[in-house]
Amino acid sequence: MTTGDDTKAAGEEMYALVERLYPLCRSITGDGVRATLDIVGEYLPLRVHEVPTGTRVLDWTVPQEWNIRDAYIADAAGNRVVDFAASSLHVLGYSVPVSATMPLAELREHLHTLPDHPTWVPYRTSYYTPDWGFCLSQETLDALPDGEYEVRVDSTLADGHLTYAEYVVPGQVADEVIVSCHVCHPSLANDNLAGIAVATFLARALAEQTPWYTYRFLFAPGTIGAITWLARNAERVERAVKHGLVLACAGDPGRLTYKRSRRGDAEIDRVMRNVLQASQRPHEIREFTPYGYDERQFCSPGFDLGVGSLSRTPYAGYPEYHTSADNLDFVRPEAMADTLALCREAFSVLDRNRRYVNLSPYGEPQLGRRGLYDSLGGRSDAKQAQLAMLWVLSLSDGTHGLLDVAERSGLPFDTVAAAADALHDAGLIKA
Ligand code: ZN
Repeated sequence: MTTGDDTKAAGEEMYALVERLYPLCRSITGDGVRATLDIVGEYLPLRVHEVPTGTRVLDWTVPQEWNIRDAYIADAAGNRVVDFAASSLHVLGYSVPVSATMPLAELREHLHTLPDHPTWVPYRTSYYTPDWGFCLSQETLDALPDGEYEVRVDSTLADGHLTYAEYVVPGQVADEVIVSCHVCHPSLANDNLAGIAVATFLARALAEQTPWYTYRFLFAPGTIGAITWLARNAERVERAVKHGLVLACAGDPGRLTYKRSRRGDAEIDRVMRNVLQASQRPHEIREFTPYGYDERQFCSPGFDLGVGSLSRTPYAGYPEYHTSADNLDFVRPEAMADTLALCREAFSVLDRNRRYVNLSPYGEPQLGRRGLYDSLGGRSDAKQAQLAMLWVLSLSDGTHGLLDVAERSGLPFDTVAAAADALHDAGLIKA
């Protein structure tokens, strides 16, 4: 278990990572994704994959690569009234290049604002329909006098690559747990950077031990990145991927939200429910919907993986979502630390949820003779620990796992797992 100090330190380190990644102009392809993966690569030895434009991936095609150097709107005096250099949100994602002078009335068709939040800048993209545009606050727009404006988007859309990265923590078995986060949003802190930071530190924590499962972390652009990964890993997905978790919106101060897999009763769904309830954290558990993040792809019926999604305030559930207000003030070190701690607790349960067979199933085995009662002497939870042994013996028929034991007995999973360890050491059960 981590101590309070460890958790606090992890929160601050994750926040520092979010701060470094925040200014970069990420998109579904391009150098912003590479720069992001370079920085994450300082924390984890990532394996970076480059998939060429035009590659068929399931029902999709890898698009042209988008890169941008500069973009601005300048008034007649040459002052930049909207400037990409000030925030990557100011340009419509995937804007085609433009260099023109036009009156404000014509320019307006390409401007995006949030009238309900006049000081915020929206986040907008146009990945699959060629377009250009700028995002700005309503206040800025209202202050622009009529007249001619110079508009320039210095971008390129050209054949290139889609970039994603993986990091694998080898386990004791080849069966895999995938942990995925999206890396395609520009300067938005909760909706992508907090998830990246939590995934990075979760991977580092798991790599310090040898977990039971093999954990595969995936840092990929949303939708097209997950689809590309699935297309290139379809065989292994079917054979090896047993569980998974999509991490997003992992750093706001709201309560934790877990969204079940499409299957609804996958092992990860039961683990998350057990851990959230046992932790007594405020939380919400939602049913699956074919919307949200990349659980949409992992849970599509052809794959139907046991992949749930963990966030704090979920997708589109907060006013700051997809705006400039999802910034470095909106995410908190302690919230990221809490999300990280919950993930570690959940994977600790998942890793220990084995099925055992009672080797002495005819009548109760004599626990006292084996020293199993003595080992409990003086423990404040001795009664509970003894009960846990009886439950493990009772349900260890090869079909029930330890999570079944915890659920049916109402005992904490840790108590049940400790009882199983003691019974295993005494030779009374086998995995
Ligand atoms: Zn988003």
